[in-house]
Amino acid sequence: MKGGDPVKKRITKGLLWLGVLSFLILATGFVLLPSKGYIPVLMYHVILPEKDLGRGSLNVGIRHFQRQMWFLKTFGFHPISLDELYAIKTGQAEPKGREVVVTFDDGHRSYLKEALPVMERYGIPSANFLIWDHLNNRFWKDYMTLEEAKSIAEHPLVTFGSHTLTHPDLPDTGRAQAEVEIVESRKRLEESFDQTIDYFCYPSGLFNEDIIQLVEAAGYKMAFTTKAKRLRGHPESLYSLLRLKVKRTNNLFIFWLHVSGISDAMERAGLFFRQLTGNKQNDTLSAYQSHLEMT
Ligand SMILES: [Zn+2]
Repeated sequence: MKGGDPVKKRITKGLLWLGVLSFLILATGFVLLPSKGYIPVLMYHVILPEKDLGRGSLNVGIRHFQRQMWFLKTFGFHPISLDELYAIKTGQAEPKGREVVVTFDDGHRSYLKEALPVMERYGIPSANFLIWDHLNNRFWKDYMTLEEAKSIAEHPLVTFGSHTLTHPDLPDTGRAQAEVEIVESRKRLEESFDQTIDYFCYPSGLFNEDIIQLVEAAGYKMAFTTKAKRLRGHPESLYSLLRLKVKRTNNLFIFWLHVSGISDAMERAGLFFRQLTGNKQNDTLSAYQSHLEMT
């Protein structure tokens, strides 16, 4: 039978071309993205050896984390500190392209034990947003003590920010209590570390216009939330900076989608589409679910 089944041949050829085309699109994206000026801010919480990972949705395995940091350094990304991010955002410095910011929330002890040694190996700066109560109350035994945090407060790759006194949902605490959480946490961290605390992070990413005013009045220069949904129509500003949660299941391809800006674009497109179709129900539900996840 000369040449085999022509239909089969055509399908094989078609698939081959599809493969080549997909590869070319991906390769082009890999080289061109992220576009200059887009600076992804990654969010981690807990980094643990794979055997200790358990079920916590905030836990990321150390081998995954190490590969991700290796990826950034190997493929020409420029991890920058919050001070450098602020300088770019306020026009005091020009973005060079491929900047990325690494942040951690809550001051888990694994930051000191697991994450920092990896960051040191690759020379990657990071920020950790600390909860005053977790530093000082031994009920939170898996979190850094004040003494442990002090031991790395001067580390050139470490920036500490405030994540309140007790990690409440700020929009629900009442204005007076929210002000105490925002102002006092800054004051106590500054006194403890003898340094200025310029950056703030909303517990569970939750904020509103009142909370932003309080954060700004307290003297913080920037404040971080989590995903685009948290904006709830609020304009993005220095006080509502979005971040990308790196999940334990994210492989290097998903990680690339995060740092290339594709995840962000997809999330915004999804939000836009849901607003267009008036489908807000799912939004409320998933916001509530992720709210439970993000404590
Ligand atoms: Zn938190």
